[in-house]
Amino acid sequence: MDISVVIPVYNEEASLNPLYERLKKTLQEINRSYEIIFIDDGSKDQSWRVLKHLKEKDENIKLIRFTRNFGQTAAISAGFEYAKGEIIVGMDADLQNDPGDIPHFLAKIEEGYDLVSGWRRHRKDTLLTRKLPSWIANWLISKITGVKLHDYGCSLKAYRSWVIKNIHLYGEMHRFIPALAKWCGASITEIEVRHHPRRFGQTKYGLSRTLKVILDLITVKFLLSYSTKPLHFFGIPGILSSLVGFLICSYLSLLKFFYHIQLSQRPLLLLGILLIFIGIQFISLGLLGELAIRIYHETQRKSIYVIKEIIE
Ligand code: UDP
Ligand code: MG
Repeated sequence: MDISVVIPVYNEEASLNPLYERLKKTLQEINRSYEIIFIDDGSKDQSWRVLKHLKEKDENIKLIRFTRNFGQTAAISAGFEYAKGEIIVGMDADLQNDPGDIPHFLAKIEEGYDLVSGWRRHRKDTLLTRKLPSWIANWLISKITGVKLHDYGCSLKAYRSWVIKNIHLYGEMHRFIPALAKWCGASITEIEVRHHPRRFGQTKYGLSRTLKVILDLITVKFLLSYSTKPLHFFGIPGILSSLVGFLICSYLSLLKFFYHIQLSQRPLLLLGILLIFIGIQFISLGLLGELAIRIYHETQRKSIYVIKEIIE
């Protein structure tokens, strides 16, 4: 299998037929073996019936159906897990992405990139609730993860399958795939894609998504930088805090024992003790973290590296 296209579907009944027609046209022109995987994420409309109709006509279609709505990240993960193609293409079901762009993605992969991300340069969404928060989020994510992309939110992306098979997604992390892929050692690039206004159905997200993205960003940064060394992360502020607390307390002890000054009037004493305790807390947290990552890696047999090739 050469190409797997993975498409999450949640209440998109009206888009599915036109999407399939365009996708089929593009994929047939490329002239390589392909599969289209639709994941019905607990749709409440007729999406599943429409999908089953399509499946009857075309055996390149694979269908996965969830028992309820588990969210876009879960749907994408299920599709990725199932995909057998050497190249995996992800896109939305709502026709906002253009299937006609897929050949450009494949060309970039052919050039040697492991991950190609779409950039909706002329994005057709509302300014205040979608585009503005997205600009801020993209800037922040680029700064903090060090993977500079204009558009993390674009679902239209292509991956070599090894990249995807090395990434495990939780929560709403699909947006951070490029950052996680960088950890795997993938080479990443972006290309401009067309973007269309939503014609059918409704968007599933509101403004609250921005806050979630920022919280997720903290998780990703932690995972990428410190997940294998939590004691380094918590230990350094811990040591500094304890040290300052210790110095303060030593100074106050000097005053007390050599100059016989009363300490009951010195708020500095509280600060000193507080800092020592905060330091101990931080170090304990780091140690717990060390314990947690061992459990995490060993129970999941998750390795702390990704091998490109072995020559014996
Ligand atoms: N989607 C999904 N499960 C959800 C929410 C969304 O499978 O819980 C799918 C949805 O059907 C679409 C894609 O994820 O194919 C992107 O959703 P949407 O277009 O609403 O997001 P937007 O483009 O507005 O950011
Ligand atoms: Mg959309």
